[in-house]
Amino acid sequence: MNFIKFLGTAGARFVMIKQLRASGGIWISYRGTNVLVDPGPGSIVRCAASKPKLDPTKLDALILTHRHLDHSADINVMIEAMTEGGFKKRGIVFCPKDTIEEDSVILKHTLGFVQKLELLEERKTYKAGEFEFKISMRHIHPVETYGIKFNMGQTSVSILTDTKYFKGLLGFYNTDIVIIAVVFFQPRPGIDHLNLSDVEEIIRELRPKKAILTHFGMTMLKAKPHIQAEILTKKLGIEVQAAYDGMTLDF
Ligand SMILES: [Zn+2]
Ligand SMILES: [Zn+2]
Repeated sequence: MNFIKFLGTAGARFVMIKQLRASGGIWISYRGTNVLVDPGPGSIVRCAASKPKLDPTKLDALILTHRHLDHSADINVMIEAMTEGGFKKRGIVFCPKDTIEEDSVILKHTLGFVQKLELLEERKTYKAGEFEFKISMRHIHPVETYGIKFNMGQTSVSILTDTKYFKGLLGFYNTDIVIIAVVFFQPRPGIDHLNLSDVEEIIRELRPKKAILTHFGMTMLKAKPHIQAEILTKKLGIEVQAAYDGMTLDF
């Protein structure tokens, strides 16, 4: 069974701190390979609370798009789970170089359990079990940040994570399904995040089969993501969906 499960849809600090939405990342299963992208705070809790439960000891890889805590806080505990408490050297961790430099978000101790560490480089292709994925150009965000494009049989899925909008994004995220981190409802100049009008332009240009909005900040939550998704669907004639915690997408 192939699926994508949202273990969290919180974006930015305050929605995460107050846990108005969970922040566990995105779990993808494809042909028996399990990958977790951006295990933010509570990821391990969301796995256990998930229905049906997700077993983190069955993970094959962990991917960090960048080092911000809403994306990486549970990385150590998820590594410990993936390696069955550190007793089995297994799994791959994919992350940008600055996540493990000085002030590493990954403890040396847990990194020692992992079978392989792969540093992400822009536009490079990587493999983990049945997964093949390509890394985007570097995003415009305060730390080293990349999006991901997965090729899964008939379906391509991309995760457009935190960034300021720039035209170059459009060349990469041309997938059937695009998952977009939309933090702000309205433009907030000077902060490197997407807002809803950026996202509207992105979807209009890319014309995916389906766009999924996630990673909501406070202003997006107040504007009710599902209502905004409906408005965009009507306006663009493209299926736009607002993710909710625990949402599963089968493909
Ligand atoms: Zn974020
Ligand atoms: Zn960020």
